[in-house]
Formats: sequence, C-alpha cells, structure tokens
Amino acid sequence: MFQLKNYINGELCTPDTGEYLDNYEPSTGKVYAQIPNSGQTDVQKAVAAAEKAFPAWSMMPVEKRSAILGKISALILENLDRLAAAESKDNGKPVWLAKQVDIPRAAKNFHFYATAILHFGSEANAMTNKAINYTLRDPLGVVACISPWNLPLYLFSWKIAPALAAGNCVVAKPSEVTPMTAYLLSELCIEAGLPAGVLNIVHGLGTHAGAAMTTHPKVKAVSFTGGTQTGATIAKLAAPMFKKLSLELGGKNPNIIFADCDYDKMLSTTLRSSFANQGQICLCGSRIFVERPIYEKFKKDFVQKAALLKVGDPKASDTKIGAVVSKPHQEKILSYIELAKEEGGTILLGGQQAKVGGECTEGYFVQPTIIEGLAHDCRTNQEEIFGPVVTIMPFDTEDEVLEYANSVRYGLSATVWTTNLNRATQFSQKLESGIVWVNCWLLRDLRTPFGGVKDSGVGREGGFEVLRFFTEPKNICIEY
Ligand code: NDP
Repeated sequence: MFQLKNYINGELCTPDTGEYLDNYEPSTGKVYAQIPNSGQTDVQKAVAAAEKAFPAWSMMPVEKRSAILGKISALILENLDRLAAAESKDNGKPVWLAKQVDIPRAAKNFHFYATAILHFGSEANAMTNKAINYTLRDPLGVVACISPWNLPLYLFSWKIAPALAAGNCVVAKPSEVTPMTAYLLSELCIEAGLPAGVLNIVHGLGTHAGAAMTTHPKVKAVSFTGGTQTGATIAKLAAPMFKKLSLELGGKNPNIIFADCDYDKMLSTTLRSSFANQGQICLCGSRIFVERPIYEKFKKDFVQKAALLKVGDPKASDTKIGAVVSKPHQEKILSYIELAKEEGGTILLGGQQAKVGGECTEGYFVQPTIIEGLAHDCRTNQEEIFGPVVTIMPFDTEDEVLEYANSVRYGLSATVWTTNLNRATQFSQKLESGIVWVNCWLLRDLRTPFGGVKDSGVGREGGFEVLRFFTEPKNICIEY
C-alpha cells in the first residue's frame, strides 16, 4: 500500500515513530494509503530545519523568493488533473469541483502572494521639523500552519503561501483525514527548487503532531483553520507562550432572503451555498430565513431543485454531491438530522444516508436535506453540522430576522438577498459577521480581509492583513 512521507529539510522521509495511520477513500469506504503518524521528534526535526533555513530565506531578495513561489503556482497548474483526482479520492468531493475550484485556487494562492509581497510596504510617519518614524516589518521566524479537511490544498496553501512570501519558514500539518495533496505539494516544492527547510510538512494527528507544533517554543506564530473547540485548545496552550495566533474557526451562517430579491439568481445561488462540497464549506449558509410573502414559493422551488442534485460517484461528471469526508462525520451529520426530528422539525427532502451502488456501495454519502418547522434557537439551528443539511424558516420583519441571524455563537459569514440598496447597506452593518455577501455568495477577492467574529475566530487572513500577521512591526524613530 502507498505510504506518504513527511517533507523535512527538503527531503521526503519516513516518520521517526515508524507508525502509520490508515487513509480512507470516502466514496468507497476503503483504505487506500497510509500516512505517517508523526510525533514530537519529527516535529522537532522540522522546526530545527526551518530554523536553519530562516536566515537565508528571510534575507533572500524578495524578487527571488517571489519567483520560487511563482514556480510552485505554475507547477500546481501543470499538475491540475493529477491533483484534482487526488483531492477527490482523498476527500470525496466531485472531481470536477476539485478541478474547477480547489486546485486552481491553490495555484492562485501561491501566485497572489508571490506578487503581493512585491507590493507590500510599511509606513513612515514624520514629526514636523523634529523626527522621522519608519516601521520595519520583519518576518517572525518559524511559524506553524495547520489546516482542515474540507478544502485541503486550497486552505493549506492559503496559509503557507503568505507565510513563505513574508520570509518565514514554515512547519505545516494538513488534516490527517485528507493529507494526499499536501504530500504531492511537497514533491512540487522540491521540483520548484524551494530551499531545504523553508517548508516542512509533517503528517499525523492533531493531538500529537499538531500539538507538538503549537507548543514548540521556537514556533513564533500559529495560523490555524478548523473547529472552534480545537481553536480554543490551541489558544489555551499557545497564549501563555505569547505566540501570535490566527484562528479561522467554525460557522453557522445565515442566508437571509427578502421578498424583493432577484428570485432566480437567489434560488440557484442558494442551492450552491447550501450543498456545494456536500455542505462542507465553512461559508455555506445553513440557516435559510425567507420573508413570509415568498416563503411557500421558495420552499416548493428549493425542494424541487435540490431533489434533482445527483448524489453519486465523485468521478462521474454529472455528480453534484459526492461523499462526505469520513464515516464519523457521516454519523455526526445523520445524528443532527435525528436531533432535528426530535426538536420538532419536518424533513422536506432527504434526511438519510444516500445509497450509491457499484464501487461506492460502502461510501459515506448523505442525501441533500432540507428541514422546516424549527425555532431559530434550537440546537439544530445553533450548532455547526457541516454537511448537506439546511433549515428553512419564515420571518416577517427586519428586526426579527436580524435577531435570529445574530443569535448564534458564530459570526463567520452571512448572505443577504434584497434589491433595496438602503436595506442592503444598513442590514449588512448590523450583522455580527466577518463577511457579508449581498446578492451573491462565495465571490472571493483575495485582497479582502477574511475571517470571523465571535466564536468563528480571531484575526484576518487575506490581502495584506495576513502579511501583517506573518511579520513583526518594529518602529524606528530618528530625531534630527
Ligand atoms: P479540526 O479542528 O478537527 O482540525 C483542524 C486541524 O487541526 C487538523 O489538521 C487537525 O488534525 C488539527 N488539530 C486537531 N487537534 C489539534 C491540536 N490539539 N493541536 C493542533 N492541531 C490540532 O477541524 P476539521 O478538520 O474537522 O475541519 C472542520 C472545521 O473547520 C469546521 O468547524 C469548519 O467550520 C472549520 N473551518 C473553518 C474555516 C474558516 O475559514 N473559518 C474554513 C474551513 C473550515 P487532525 O485532522 O489530525 O484532527
């Protein structure tokens, strides 16, 4: 069976522990590879390699650093088909989705930060006739990047690219559930000529390899994307060591539909924002609030359209919904559907494991599920499910729906559908959310700040924000 390797000090290597974990293909339920179950000594080696590489990498002319990152971006695109097939096999998502979204975006992340760093300046403040202040922004040193399983290479590269561009050396861990494209990336980094030790990828469990990274005294910052509970654990361990923390955590995003919306655009986008990537995008709108005059029409049309979404083999081009990422995750999603029923919800569509035949008979599939009749404050509407499950609820007034939208502990993203410009601007401002999409969803401009409020996280990624995170400002004041 194929065994993945760690990428430490520029080389692909086996873990010191000698231990491996099974890697499952979600669409078949079968083990198809093994990944290193790395431990403390593997992480220590990775951090030591990063420390050794740091002086040369951080002092390298920025144009040269940029060129190497640009080469990695180009190699990702050259390997688009191979990487998309690997991402789909590892995660369960349709191949076409990985090909259209995940892999091109990973290439774009490297390209964006390879070029952004060329334009990243720092400020100077003159004190009239007295002094000049200028601020240096130096890289931090060794930083840890830890990412989740839902958008594996996309989110892994979203952290690594800016950290490297800013001149840091990185010790990174992809989710143990979806390690394959991170492994393939390590091969591409070698091909691109990334100097040894600049990026180190250590595979393994969050509680072992992940924890060893976040608590290593030489690691200056931790950039983490994942669940809120894990974020809290990392914060608890890292805060007393005064590490910089960027935490991108869970969500329970509202999708608020006013009666004056562009109905057709809203309907097709809402299908995507509900079920894309099997509902496993932190930005999916899982609580759908619909203004009462169009509630019944929306309900009928939405259920009808969602019923047409084909659940199937991720390799088939007409599959709209692939497998969810793992057996435990499938069980979690199905348990929330049971909870919704106990809480008085009516299942309008789906509600069960989906049966897909052939080689996918044992795969982890869930039917797209639409639930109505639940109060905004029940557990189903308050807790993150992270699957192809949405609830729909009517509302009558702006104040009422604002209260519903803001009633959760999370505040990652929100979507608002209205053609009333005044309402769009005023309502968006009142939403407790890091990102608001008006009349669109997941329209991403990489220059913008990305992140959540409340229990959805601390700090912002994207644009120059993340370059500020990955650098330390030092003000120098010269009196003359
Ligand atoms: P987890 O929090 O379980 O894991 C995320 C990563 O952290 C994994 O690599 C995991 O390793 C690792 N990890 C786990 N425990 C520790 C620890 N103690 N110390 C260090 N690292 C650790 O999240 P999931 O992978 O289940 O991802 C789904 C979650 O991610 C959802 O809540 C979703 O909302 C959120 N998310 C947020 C986004 C955002 O931008 N705000 C974007 C995408 C997802 P291992 O796999 O071994 O457990």
